[in-house]
Formats: sequence, structure tokens, C-alpha cells
Amino acid sequence: MIEKIIELKKERKAVILAHNYQLGEVQDVADFVGDSLGLSQQAAKTDAKVIVFCGVHFMAETAAMLSPDKIVLLPDPNAGCPMADMINAEQLREEKKKNPGSPVVCYVNSTAEVKAECDVCCTSSNSIKVVERLGDERPIIFIPDQYLGAYTASKTNKKLILWPGYCPTHMKIGVDDIINLKKEHPYAEVLVHPECRPEVIAQADHALSTDGIIKRVRQSLSREFIIGTELGIIHRLKIESPEKIFIPASKRAICPDMKAITLEKVLWALERMEYHVTVPPEIREKAVKAVNRMLEIV
Ligand code: SF4
Repeated sequence: MIEKIIELKKERKAVILAHNYQLGEVQDVADFVGDSLGLSQQAAKTDAKVIVFCGVHFMAETAAMLSPDKIVLLPDPNAGCPMADMINAEQLREEKKKNPGSPVVCYVNSTAEVKAECDVCCTSSNSIKVVERLGDERPIIFIPDQYLGAYTASKTNKKLILWPGYCPTHMKIGVDDIINLKKEHPYAEVLVHPECRPEVIAQADHALSTDGIIKRVRQSLSREFIIGTELGIIHRLKIESPEKIFIPASKRAICPDMKAITLEKVLWALERMEYHVTVPPEIREKAVKAVNRMLEIV
């Protein structure tokens, strides 16, 4: 199957992207493994004609926005992100009416039509910088993740209006999981994603994006790490730092949407050239502005 994928990839002039939460076997067949925005940016720089995005729908949309001349395929059309789907453009327009003049910051984990309604995007690694650069006059509407929003607010003196979205996978990591593991592994460094609940973050040494966790492990002198994010990341951590030990904060932190992509589906995507993800030009134009504004800031 891997040979067939590689053969078809060449034939189609395709590039395969895999998010850090993908199954290990899918990560292994990818040209690039990383976080959603970084992957879309890397793919945009290539001369590939086709992008196979092994991730969830909003990620494929971001790739389509940044590479409008490439065909973007999502191997499973039902791989969505429940958190991104917790707000739609209509709900955001209502929220803006309730808070006239407030700037809107959206986490990249949002749909293209929602991004198109926002002033600026952010990622889990730059949300603090983005929020700090906005004016002080009005509170900032932050969507869709209340926990990344709360973490960002705690690190700035800005007032944020938080949309009550959340990641169901990171919600599965409980504060007791971390407390118990810290007792069992007193020398382990605790790294969690800022999509975790505040009480979980309070128990951690660092709250970092997925690529931030990978970098921290590379640089740290610690030998053991308690990892508070989706389990797929441990595959990459083990490859990059085989001498280190990784303990998942919760074995239940598995995103079913991320795990919907399998090697078979990657092969079928290339064989059948399915499933196309596109963003209408009028949405794309506005949504790309929000992404570019973030890139200017950071
Ligand atoms: S891990 Fe959470 S934020 Fe990421 S795709 Fe799954 S549900 Fe969405």
C-alpha cells in the first residue's frame, strides 16, 4: 500500500501533509508532518499540483486558501473538528452585533466562513502576541476555544470575550490525571496544550502548541515527559527523541476525527482524486486577510 501511495503521489504530482495527531503510519508516509498552519504554508511553497491533507476539514480549507491553484483532497470527507463547528458565521455576526466595535480574533481551528468574519487569526503558539498587538479600547471577541482564550487572557492584560467552544479531546485530560502522574514520575516535565482546561494547565511546566511541545522536548535536558495533548504526537516525539520517555497525560485523549484518516483512505484519495475541498473566492479573499494580518504581527 505504501509503495502504491508513493507511486501515485509522483504520478499526480502530489504532496502529502499529516498533522501531528494523525496515525503513526499516516505520518510515516507524509512529506511533511506538523501543525495545521505550518503544513499549509509548507505546501504552498511547493510546486505540487495536489495536496492530500491528512487532518480535519478546516485544515484542508486553510491549505486551499493558501494554495488556490492546487487541488486539495481530504481523504475522509467526514473528518471534521467539533470545536471549529461550535461557531458558524451567522452566530459570529450576532456576537459582533452584541459587541459593536470589538475586534475579533479567531483561532485557526475555525471554518473558512468564520475566518472571513474575523479581523485576525491566531495559532496556539502566537495567540498572546496577536492579542497584545490589538488596541485597548474595546474587549476582544475570541473564538472558538474558550480555554485557549482564557490562557491567552491570563498572559495579557487584555479583556477577552470568550466564545464557549472547546476541544472534546483535550477535555478528556483531567487535572487528577496530571496530579497522579506527577506523583509516579516526579522528575518528568509536564507539557500540555493550551486547549486543555485551566486547572490542567496550572499543573504543567509549559503550555505549548504541538510544534512547541516537539521543540521543547528537543531542547530540554529532562529525560521523561508527561504529554497533555492528543496521543498522535507521541509517535513523532519518539522518532525525534528516541532516547526520551513519553507518558501520555490521558490515554483517552484520542481525536476520532483525526484518526478517521487511514493509509487506505490516503491511497483511495490519490486513486480517485477525492474528496475535493474548496473555498469560494469571496470567502477566501476575506479569510486570507485575517491569516495575513496574523502573519504580519508575528
Ligand atoms: S483534537 Fe480537538 S481541536 Fe483538534 S481536530 Fe480534534 S476536536 Fe478539533
